[in-house]
Amino acid sequence: MMMIAMREDATPAQIEEVVARLAAVGAEAHLHMQGSVATIAVEGDREAVAGLPIEVYPGVDRVVTLLRPYKLVSREFRARDTVIRMGHLHIGGGHFGLIAGPCSVETREQTLSAARFVKASGATGLRGGAFKPRTSPYAFQGLGEEALQILAEAREETGLPVVTELMDVRHLDLVLKYADVIQIGARNMQNFHLLAAVGQVDRPVLLKRGLCATLEELLMAAEYIVREGNSQVMVCERGIRTFETATRNTLDISAVPIIKHRSHLPVVVDPSHASGKVELIEPLSLAAIAAGADGLIIEAHPAPETALCDGAQSLSPVAFARTASRIAEMVAWMGKTLG
Ligand code: PEP
Ligand code: MN
Repeated sequence: MMMIAMREDATPAQIEEVVARLAAVGAEAHLHMQGSVATIAVEGDREAVAGLPIEVYPGVDRVVTLLRPYKLVSREFRARDTVIRMGHLHIGGGHFGLIAGPCSVETREQTLSAARFVKASGATGLRGGAFKPRTSPYAFQGLGEEALQILAEAREETGLPVVTELMDVRHLDLVLKYADVIQIGARNMQNFHLLAAVGQVDRPVLLKRGLCATLEELLMAAEYIVREGNSQVMVCERGIRTFETATRNTLDISAVPIIKHRSHLPVVVDPSHASGKVELIEPLSLAAIAAGADGLIIEAHPAPETALCDGAQSLSPVAFARTASRIAEMVAWMGKTLG
């Protein structure tokens, strides 16, 4: 497939002209707008298209032939790192994000307390589930809108942008009302209608890798979102299913440099769901940063032993403070900035 990247200052008339010239030789041209920047994907008779001097058409920035199945998210299409704007902070392109907080919002006190202690230890984002994808229908399912209101209050007080999961297209407007970043969970990585829906809104997305998804499938899922116009996507390695039983999942550390090589999207690592064990959070976090990760998402709880969900993998305030300071050192060592 061939992609034509138009210049940022290309006029609508110039864009139409390129599309018309392609159509004239029988090629199919699909126009995608990312903000004000137009990209034209060209399908059809390569020979006919090859004869056109597309590079010199007014408004054309460059023409790229893409070999990989994902296009817009590929490094060959866009060499420059995508930088996510998360509130007043950034993730990607040398900016490191440390997102932390409870697995689920349980009470106002629990979440406000978590927000305060993670902020005090240097976190740049607050996580907390309002809609929880639980294996058992009898397990705590999340507080829904009440949880979103609590998260908004925690943001108000601490200034931390809020990351929370969207499980169902029907809750999109509700989540948009409160969240700074929409999380798409591992179990929904290939819920294509959900991906397309978040692709149509103007809000960063944290897309988690499916339990058994290949990196190509993960990047294809990200492509679904970006193709709809939302280029603010970061992907998250959160461990995959393997034969190993010592950990909840197996952190695929090589996913980090591989994705960074193949895609311009920021990569966030979730050592909590990857390991399921508090004692592994710090070593896996440091390894993730060394491997080139742009951020971490870590579960932390004011009293992990009482947590309604994922207590065994949630750091206490003391443990989080220690781990966060090692993380800060490692981030600096890698030449990146926290926030
Ligand atoms: C979570 O982040 O709370 C979560 C459910 O993660 P995952 O979708 O990766 O299992
Ligand atoms: Mn969890």
